[in-house]
Amino acid sequence: MADHSQVAVAAAEAAKHSAKNAWIGKTAPFAAIAAVAVILPLVGNDYWAVIASRAAIYWVLVAGLNLIVGFAGQLAIGYVSLLTLGAYVTSVLAAGNVLPAMPLPICFAAAAFTGGVFGVIVGLPALRLRTFYFAISTLGFATIVTQIALAWQSVTGGGIGLPGPEFPAPINTPWGFYAFCLAAAALATWISSNVAHSRFGRALVAIRDADVAAEANGILKAKLLVPVFLLGGAMAAIAGGLFATLQTYITPDAFTFDLSILFFIAILIGGRGSILGPLLGTVLLTILPEIAAPLASWSTFLYAVLLLVIVLVVPGGIADVLDFKNRHALTSGRAIVPRPSLLSGVFAHRPDAETLTLKEIVLTFGGVRALDGLDLQIKAGEVHGLIGPNGSGKTTALNVISGYYAPRQGEARIGDRLLPPARPELRATLGIARTFQTPRIVGEETVLENVMIGGTVSGRAGFLATLLALPGRGRDERDLTARAMRALETVGLEALAEVRANRLQHSELRFVEIARALMLAPSVLLLDEPAAGLSPDEIERLGALITEISKQGTAVLLVEHHSDLIFAICQEVTVLNQGRVLARGTPADIRGHKEVISAYLGG
Ligand code: ADP
Ligand code: MG
Repeated sequence: MADHSQVAVAAAEAAKHSAKNAWIGKTAPFAAIAAVAVILPLVGNDYWAVIASRAAIYWVLVAGLNLIVGFAGQLAIGYVSLLTLGAYVTSVLAAGNVLPAMPLPICFAAAAFTGGVFGVIVGLPALRLRTFYFAISTLGFATIVTQIALAWQSVTGGGIGLPGPEFPAPINTPWGFYAFCLAAAALATWISSNVAHSRFGRALVAIRDADVAAEANGILKAKLLVPVFLLGGAMAAIAGGLFATLQTYITPDAFTFDLSILFFIAILIGGRGSILGPLLGTVLLTILPEIAAPLASWSTFLYAVLLLVIVLVVPGGIADVLDFKNRHALTSGRAIVPRPSLLSGVFAHRPDAETLTLKEIVLTFGGVRALDGLDLQIKAGEVHGLIGPNGSGKTTALNVISGYYAPRQGEARIGDRLLPPARPELRATLGIARTFQTPRIVGEETVLENVMIGGTVSGRAGFLATLLALPGRGRDERDLTARAMRALETVGLEALAEVRANRLQHSELRFVEIARALMLAPSVLLLDEPAAGLSPDEIERLGALITEISKQGTAVLLVEHHSDLIFAICQEVTVLNQGRVLARGTPADIRGHKEVISAYLGG
């Protein structure tokens, strides 16, 4: 035991060290970009001031859009609409076309508000429509905004347009305005990075790459996306106001489809789930047409070519090219050695001792009765084995408990509380955690971040506190990081904490999922074939780990094909056949059960 904890302490130290290096590695490129941005006025002329301001303004929009497109994977391609909206709201209010002329801060606040509201309205279809249809709906909105700007002449000046808001000295010079836009861009970077590196940011990526696992961890797409759409819309509208100032005069045809494409492609060539990549992508796409001035009229074509090249050559975008840390080889022949003795640290206090009860569950898929009157009771502190031939309904039983399927008849309870059917996102708060037959992992995030997703529901800081980096966000992050490290040490994967999850072996992903489930210190743990693909040694260690988890007071439901493992660690075993219980009893009972032997164990 002493050995174990020493190993764990050393590993934790090493991980802390590498986490610190990772932080420096992540911050340095931003510092370099900031240095270039600050030096620029010393070396550039007024022409460059305008281009650099434009890049900064575009980034204010893209930084918000990046959370929607790059992180959440929602194809909002018509985002120029919110830039247009912001430009007109600020310009109209500043010019006094409807109300008396307003001071600039009010114009911008009004734009941010309008942008936020419309950001949500434009985003709402994403909650119902599949990606492609959502993309089209954002384009539709862009057309509507431009048409209104054209038609509503008394307010917008129609095709003739109106002047953009004018800033007072010293912001009214090219470099003065650049400094202002640069500050806005820095703020946008900070805000989007606060969100990205929080439970909200990880949840966004989880709904993009592993939506089923996201739900099991308490993440509800609709609830999560609304504040993100609000933020994205507000940032886009503020960018719109700055854009109108930079243009000095706006007409509807300043807001072209090309701009929408630029924003979208900046994120794609930057790399999904990165902030640095899309930032560089935005700068690149803003500067490119200037450097290649004779080619300016070809810019759309250039973007398309650039996108094709990126997609074909480096699908991960700029972020992937810059990801040096994940370039060097991992040690081969890695053995997974969990440390069950550390579980007492993962379970800070014993989970509520809850019995999970299924009563006469019936569930059909078309004509197939996948579950046909299933009764099941899993007691706290015990490992309950669920075995049966392929297609006998084991995974379906887990899916009913996890709330993915609503049974046609029957009910599931934890303690005496009814488990609401078809509400998977409510299971995490009830202390029900699970793993999946095929690991559901966010391949592009680190192992540590994947495990942290398991603690999403325990975060305290709200969205606003998170984006402003109020102390609550720091507390959440420290708490989640420490707990996720402890869970990784427990399953024996702490050395891989900073590695991108898609570089791991299949067997390791199974343990990553267990670590993620442990983040809930669950009352009920559902394991769907956790031993599949593991070596005999690993299966034995897995068994010891599962036993120790149950001793913490957790009710474990273990679906497994390795009957050795089942008979070694379960207190009770249920055998399913065609959705019905064929036999139930202790391992000894089941081993001697005639029908089970002939139907399943093959003796
Ligand atoms: P097991 O996990 O025991 O191998 P499952 O629970 O996955 O079995 O499947 C039980 C039965 O239900 C099988 O006949 C399977 O084909 C069917 N089934 C499972 N999920 C679905 C689904 N989403 N749609 C249609 N049929 C399904
Ligand atoms: Mg199955």
